[in-house]
Amino acid sequence: MSKNSYQLKELEKLVSLAKRRGIIFPSSEIYGGLSSVWDYGPIGVEIKRNVKNLWWKSFVTERDDIFGIDASILMHPDVWKASGHLDSFSDPLVECSATGKRYREDHIFILEIQIKKENKLITIEASDKDEVKNLVKDKIISITPLAESNNKENPSPEGGILSEPRNFNLMFKTFIGPAEDSSSTVYLRPETAQAMFVNFLNVLNSSRKKIPFGIAQQGKSFRNEITPGNFTFRTREFEQMEMEFFCNPSEDEKWHKYWIDFSLDWFKKYGLREENLMIRKHENEELPHYSKASSDIEYLFPWSWGELETISNRTDFDLKAHSKFSGKDLSYFDQENNNRYTPFVIEPAMGADRSVLAFLCDAYCEEETEKETRTLLKLHPDVAPIKIAVLPLSRKDSLTEYSKKIFDDLKGLFTTQYDDTQSIGKRYRRQDEIGTPLCVTIDFESVEEDNSVTIRDRDSMEQIRVSSDKLIEAINDKFKSF
Ligand code: ATP
Repeated sequence: MSKNSYQLKELEKLVSLAKRRGIIFPSSEIYGGLSSVWDYGPIGVEIKRNVKNLWWKSFVTERDDIFGIDASILMHPDVWKASGHLDSFSDPLVECSATGKRYREDHIFILEIQIKKENKLITIEASDKDEVKNLVKDKIISITPLAESNNKENPSPEGGILSEPRNFNLMFKTFIGPAEDSSSTVYLRPETAQAMFVNFLNVLNSSRKKIPFGIAQQGKSFRNEITPGNFTFRTREFEQMEMEFFCNPSEDEKWHKYWIDFSLDWFKKYGLREENLMIRKHENEELPHYSKASSDIEYLFPWSWGELETISNRTDFDLKAHSKFSGKDLSYFDQENNNRYTPFVIEPAMGADRSVLAFLCDAYCEEETEKETRTLLKLHPDVAPIKIAVLPLSRKDSLTEYSKKIFDDLKGLFTTQYDDTQSIGKRYRRQDEIGTPLCVTIDFESVEEDNSVTIRDRDSMEQIRVSSDKLIEAINDKFKSF
């Protein structure tokens, strides 16, 4: 694929393209939208399906050591006691006294702090509230968040004092059955991972697979985020692609490194530029309660670096916790070595929506041509929503008949779109903007003279003429060169 030299700096450009071209729409838009909730349109749904299918292919079907499952969103409430989510799946919430606005304390990175010094009111800016508190002790008049790491443009408008943080549990509650009381409370799952742990025995017994092996699934998760934002980066309903890899405790570090490398290669393989990717190892103090070591794969989004995936060494925490709470033995008997142990788990946990957003940001490109600025999505052909557009130059009967025949030949092999509306220039622009790698154009010569069509390349705009009989071969060759 030709390398993209353009670096998207303003997310708004992508948001507006996504709306214009049917990629992503605000949810319930005719009612004014629902904050930070988004719908994928006809083009976006294809991109997201492609990303999920590519992940499933790489992490499940191309391997013989990973099994897929598709578990329910609602789970037994004790699952969340065992996993620790009921006690500790919370974020520190602080409130500004002047505006009532709520912030995630660990997201605030610039504070405007007013202090009284020698009877004068002075304002300082700082990034660490505690540090400043220690420095100036009781002289703080107000602390106002000026910016959040995921929302730089939206500082608190008026001064105020930030409250002490209180823990806010991120799980959405609902009720099962007609009674709305504590005995019927269930939760929308905040991660897909727990279903893999509670199905460990089922998969082990039904597959008769030996360790090491993994269980994977994709699906919706829900978190009542305090500060969602940055388009689909942080939302309250999102999709995850997670895999739990069960291994011998003595091999945990080897497998942890393996899955970090595997995941990074996966993002690169489908088009993310190396310079926009990095691995960030978690500091000890940021490790969650279940993790011995975690590394994030981060992407350089238009606003800053942001997490796409975390690969964690979850140790035997989850299986042991579920053994304790369910009363079922979730240990493993290793027949070869005649010993019993609780497997360790390495978890690559990726967000489907965040990955789609990264693929879109990386592919977004503006090019100056003689007449205009050409906007295009240089998506990897496997990620591109439409692979080929069939574009007859006119709607005359003879051309339509010929073009429909080409479309019929292609549509079973590639996701193909037929478009005979508007001028050819506008149609090329539309296909460029949704990332269609190849356009096949049919003109009068095709029908009346040489039985040939034109293939136009999205990135180079190069056009080649090929015989219709050799079209499929030529398309396959072209895809190899992307
Ligand atoms: P963050 O630190 O950004 O809140 P996290 O570390 O809590 O994320 P994980 O629990 O590791 O996230 O979830 C795995 C993946 O799921 C993340 O890397 C991300 O891609 C995705 N994800 C998590 N929360 C959200 C969200 N609110 N919106 C969209 N995707 C999310």
